[in-house]
Amino acid sequence: MAKPLSADRMVKALKDEGLTVHEHRNWRRHHRNAKGAWGPLNGVMIHHTVTSGTESSVELCYNGRSGLPGPLCHGVIDKQGEVWLVGNGRANHAGLGDGDVLDAVVGERNLPADNQADTDGNARFYGFECINLGDGEDPWPKAQMEAIVRVSAAICRAHEWNERSVIGHKEWQPGKTDPRGFTMDSLRGRIKDRLGKKPGDGGGVGGGDGDGGGGKPAPELEPFPGADFFHDRPDSPVITRMGKRLVSEGCSHYEIGPGPQWTEADRQSYAAWQRKLGYSGQDADGIPGPESWKRLRVPKG
Ligand SMILES: [Zn+2]
Repeated sequence: MAKPLSADRMVKALKDEGLTVHEHRNWRRHHRNAKGAWGPLNGVMIHHTVTSGTESSVELCYNGRSGLPGPLCHGVIDKQGEVWLVGNGRANHAGLGDGDVLDAVVGERNLPADNQADTDGNARFYGFECINLGDGEDPWPKAQMEAIVRVSAAICRAHEWNERSVIGHKEWQPGKTDPRGFTMDSLRGRIKDRLGKKPGDGGGVGGGDGDGGGGKPAPELEPFPGADFFHDRPDSPVITRMGKRLVSEGCSHYEIGPGPQWTEADRQSYAAWQRKLGYSGQDADGIPGPESWKRLRVPKG
């Protein structure tokens, strides 16, 4: 169970995983949040589009179709293995599905059969539409499969989930057949392998040189999550690990904790760290910046 990733965090997580990311139109503000809940998030759902052609598929997923307004997912994964972000918030992709399946995803257990449609999946799952006709004959190119693995792994890493948090639409909603052409168990096996590696491993999806990867922070350290992350009062294990580092640097203003919920004690402790580094005024306001974060050396979970 987790707070939805901000747009910046989503982009960063995907790029860190070596993916090519396209930010389509006004995707950062495109959602259906007025129609229902968005979050807490529990997993990632994989679909096929039943379309061909990148441009038209991306437009369709952004706009929706008559009777089903967009966004129809959060991202589209094309045949070249590139990701097109089309929605940030509630999206029309999962529909009503089986609450027992949701329970299993939350517990990261084996999935039961999906034989009920009693639970709103659009509140609980990120959705990725993969361009494929879904006829059982349209091939799944290597680069596209690799991108599906990496998109799933990127989001699982960001939330500290395992591969069992990734399901197919066909495992959620009775009557659905997508994605068709590979088994979800084989996909989860690959996601598990990927999660055992560092996000930047293997370069780019298409076998290129992997530009756009996250760069050079020592791999065992938590990369700077972006200033927005802290303005959103995060509830994340990253905050606990940050707090522990602040304590060992002698900067603790904690009465209790540190814990995962960002509090005023975190801000004060971080401000003490910034002062220790020689910052003052606005630069020591207790909101982490990239340089002070790098020097704090927060370990990765
Ligand atoms: Zn679907």
